[in-house]
Amino acid sequence: MAVDLVVRNGVVVTPTNTFSGGVAVDDGLIVAVGTDGVLPDGEKVLDVEGKYILPGLMDPHVHFRDPGMTYKEDFGSGSMAAVYGGITSVLDMPNVKPITDRPERILEREKLIHERSYVDIMLVGVVVQDNPDQIIPMAKAGAIGFKIFLGSTIGNIPAPDDGVIVDSLSHVAEAGLRIGFHAENDQILKHRTKQLMDAGRTDPRAFVESRPAICEAESIQRMALFAKYTGTKIHIYHLSSKDGLDMIIEHRGKGVDITTETGAHYMFLSEEDMDEMGTVLRMNPPVRSKEHGDALWEGVMDGSVNFIADDHSPHAEEEKMKGIWEAISGFVGVETLIQVMYSEAVIKRGMTINHFVRICSENGARAWDCYPQKGSLQIGTDADLTIFDPDKKWKIDRHELHSKGKVTPWHLWEGQGLPVGTVVRGNVLMWNREFVAEKPVGRLIRPNATF
Ligand SMILES: [Zn+2]
Repeated sequence: MAVDLVVRNGVVVTPTNTFSGGVAVDDGLIVAVGTDGVLPDGEKVLDVEGKYILPGLMDPHVHFRDPGMTYKEDFGSGSMAAVYGGITSVLDMPNVKPITDRPERILEREKLIHERSYVDIMLVGVVVQDNPDQIIPMAKAGAIGFKIFLGSTIGNIPAPDDGVIVDSLSHVAEAGLRIGFHAENDQILKHRTKQLMDAGRTDPRAFVESRPAICEAESIQRMALFAKYTGTKIHIYHLSSKDGLDMIIEHRGKGVDITTETGAHYMFLSEEDMDEMGTVLRMNPPVRSKEHGDALWEGVMDGSVNFIADDHSPHAEEEKMKGIWEAISGFVGVETLIQVMYSEAVIKRGMTINHFVRICSENGARAWDCYPQKGSLQIGTDADLTIFDPDKKWKIDRHELHSKGKVTPWHLWEGQGLPVGTVVRGNVLMWNREFVAEKPVGRLIRPNATF
C-alpha cells in the first residue's frame, strides 16, 4: 500500500549522517528514512534531484505580533514568510497585546494559530510581578516555556523584582520547563542612555554604547545564580556579547543548565554597519564590535552557543525611520535567516552541513523540550522537512519579502544556498520557491514534559 508522500533522490542530512536517499511520510509522520530502494511507494512523490533533505528547520525566536499588533505582522503573514525561508516551526514571543500572562491567553492564541498559521508554533508565557501563580496553569495550557524581560524593550513589560523571580523559577522547575531571559540590566542601560542623550549624541553608535556588554553579563550571572539556587533550567535569548558567553560558560561549569541562542546579525554584522544602516540595524541588545561577533561565531562552532534564532521583529516603516533614540528596535529575519546562515557559515566559513542542521533544527528542539517530535528525522515523529538547494545563488530584495515588515539589514545581500521546499507534518507548503499551501495547517507545539 502506498504512503501519503515520498521525498526521494536527495541527500539526507542529520547532525550525524549524510547519505543519498529520501524520506517517506504517512499521516503526517515519518515512516521511513533511507536509500531510495528501501522507501515505499507514495501517492505523491517529490523528486528533489540531489538537493538536501533536512529535518525541518526552526527559528526559536520570532515576534508574529498576533494578537494586538497585527498591523506589524500576524500568524498568517509571519508564518508565510517562515515557509518561504524553509522554516517549519518557530517559537513566538509573549509581548503581544494582551501579553501572554495566563492560560486563557495561551488558549486564545492557540485558536489564532489554528486559523492562520502555516507552520507549527511554540508559545512562551511571560512572567511579571503579579502572575507567578499562573506559571503552572500556563504550562498545563501548553506553554513550551517562559520569558522574563529584564531590560526595557518592545512592549515595555517591567521586570518582576528579584524576590518574585526566585519564586517564579521554582514554579518553572516544578513544571519541568525552561525559562529564558531578555538579559539586559535595566538600570545600567537607562543610566547610560540618559548620559548619552544629555551629551547631545545622536549618531547611531551612541545606541550601541547605551547598552554595553556589562548589561548582558550582569543579568546572566544574577539569573544563573537564581537558577542554581532553585534548580531551574534557564535560557538566554539573543546573546550579543563575548562577556555574556563567558558568563554562561562559567556557570555551566558550576552545574547550571543554561542554554543560549544568537542571531546571524550578531555574528556577521557589526557596529561599523550602524554607521551606514543607522536605525535599520537598531536592535535590543545591539549589534556590537567585531570582537564580540567573532566570539559568538566561535561559540556556535564549538557548541557553547546552542542554536541560531533570528528575533524576527517586524515593524511599520515609519516606526523605524526616526532618530536613533526615537526609532523602534528590531527588524525582520525569519524569511532570510537560513539562506544567510548557510551562505555565511557553511559556504564562506567552513561549517559542516551536519553542524548547520544541529544548530538550526535539533538543538532548538532539545532546549525547548520538543525533541525528537521536532528537530529530527526519527521514525514516528512529525514529518517536517526543509528541502535545500546548496548551489542556488541569491540576492535579497526587501520588497520581495512576505512579512508585513520590510526593514532588514540584509537588503541587497548576496549569497549561495536557498530553501526550495518546506514540508510541515507531511503538508507540502512551498515547492520550487512557489507557495503551494492550500490552507493554514499550523498547530501549537506542546512540550514533552507532562503533569
Ligand atoms: Zn525578541
